[in-house]
Amino acid sequence: METRLIDGLALSNRLRGALRERADALHARGVRPGLALVIVGDDAASRVYVRNKVKACADTGIYSEHVELPGDTSEPALLERIGALNRDPRIHGILVQLPLPGHIARERVLQAIAPDKDADGFHPLNVGLLATGQPATVPCTPAAVMALLESEGIDPRGQHAVVVGQSNIVGKPVAHLLLQKGATVTICNSKTRVLADHTRRADILVAAAGRPQLVTGEMVKPGAVVIDVGINRLPNGKLVGDVEFQSVLGVAARITPVPGGVGPMTVTMLLANTLAAAERQATAGAGSASSTVRA
Ligand code: NAD
Repeated sequence: METRLIDGLALSNRLRGALRERADALHARGVRPGLALVIVGDDAASRVYVRNKVKACADTGIYSEHVELPGDTSEPALLERIGALNRDPRIHGILVQLPLPGHIARERVLQAIAPDKDADGFHPLNVGLLATGQPATVPCTPAAVMALLESEGIDPRGQHAVVVGQSNIVGKPVAHLLLQKGATVTICNSKTRVLADHTRRADILVAAAGRPQLVTGEMVKPGAVVIDVGINRLPNGKLVGDVEFQSVLGVAARITPVPGGVGPMTVTMLLANTLAAAERQATAGAGSASSTVRA
């Protein structure tokens, strides 16, 4: 079987044209969409991610504010800074780059972001809305996975989707989105006894374990669609996914490459979330006095 690549970069470029138009429409209304990117400490990978996001904002006509705080910043100081961004009318979306240093409680920080400015969709309100099938700000990587499937014309309804990984930021929200689309969903985690028993039954396989090349060709059902979320750097410096790409070629019908698959689309979904937040806030500001979470 020939395995087709799902090109996240090409899809990303196509979608960003439409996002740029939405930013222009906001500019025409006197609104400059703004995203704050908060980074604490000097994690090298996080710095690269934030740099990419800042550049993507500039290319799309979104104002970005890069808030860099030292690694020994206290939790109250970080919460104070987030409070100020919540009140700042130039800022429509706020993202706190994870991971945070160990002395800071991630959940308290994510809860401090105003739900309407929650560009990453990690606030418990948005998590709850998503889990109960209501309109929510959807986390960027799970949204990217769904957009990649949609772009390929893949309808999850009735399909068996297997998600490897159950983190709050990738695995669980992806599973919710697939459930909403009518898939039968299996979620695997590090305690799953025989991973291959599950992955081999997947029509749609989403790998998000953070384990380099965990999923090999013999663990994949012939003809499956494989979405590789993993980004892992090998000791030799090479970037690989959670899927052993070479051995899956010829088995899967389609696969996302790493890099060039989910990664660029994740940034695109962040831009989309920021624009949606700016549109909601502009409409709420221009119209009723009530503050809305959803447009
Ligand atoms: P995480 O460490 O928070 O969660 C990993 C999950 O995988 C856990 O639920 C764990 O139980 C499960 N797991 C670990 N080993 C397993 C195994 N052997 N079998 C089955 N399950 C196993 O990671 P995360 O934040 O969800 O990220 C997962 C991967 O996705 C990482 O490589 C990360 O770098 C990548 N990522 C990529 C993007 C992107 O834009 N492409 C965005 C976010 C995360």
